[in-house]
Amino acid sequence: MLLHLSTWAEVGQFLERSRAIVVPIGSNEQHGPTGLLGTDWLCPQIIAYEAEKTADILVAPTFNIGMAQHHLGFPGTISLRPSTFIAAIGDWTRSLVAHGFEKILFLNGHGGNVASIEAAFSEIYAEASFAKRRAGFALKLCNWWDLDGVGELANQQFPTGHGIHATPSEIAITQWAFPDAIKPADYTPQIAPSGPIRDALDFRARYPDGRMGSDPGQASPEKGGELVKLAAQSLVLQLDAFSRESVPN
Ligand SMILES: [Zn+2]
Repeated sequence: MLLHLSTWAEVGQFLERSRAIVVPIGSNEQHGPTGLLGTDWLCPQIIAYEAEKTADILVAPTFNIGMAQHHLGFPGTISLRPSTFIAAIGDWTRSLVAHGFEKILFLNGHGGNVASIEAAFSEIYAEASFAKRRAGFALKLCNWWDLDGVGELANQQFPTGHGIHATPSEIAITQWAFPDAIKPADYTPQIAPSGPIRDALDFRARYPDGRMGSDPGQASPEKGGELVKLAAQSLVLQLDAFSRESVPN
């Protein structure tokens, strides 16, 4: 069930049978010469929507702008600073908790979001901790590439040149979902350089075409489809296990 295609009454009925929800979260940022700007929010959305076809789960609208300050040297990138991002995650979570959701799983598609999402969780839990009361809900961060079996499959598909940004696995997933948006290119060098992440102009100087350590030329829609199917199955299992965890009130 997709929240944005549901009525308030349908969400109310869902809450009578489950208190869990998936929030796809990512970033809108450059992904090299062939990667779509939406790659990091599209991947978790594609996986969550695929999972929703096979199981009675609820998927929230995608939180599609993240912490991408280091990509601002490339046109089309839109970033929240960490403090804004943390505040926004807090209000999304408080809204869902106010309706009765007790298990909120953020399915993340951008490594640069991880520190801020974890900080947001601590900010939210701190409200209960300072008041010496139970929060009554639990938050979980799950990167799609960490879902059970997904990293192993990506390693088999792309033993070299996977890299950490504009990776063949994430490009493959968007190719599978949006075959009409596949962009061909010659990569020079074939595998992009690796190194530190600092400010936006430093990033552009180190990684001129936007890739980090990757060879997205290995991506294919078929490999993307395999990743999506496995990730969707693993997400359903993760959410089920998370739903069953007890949360004392
Ligand atoms: Zn990415």
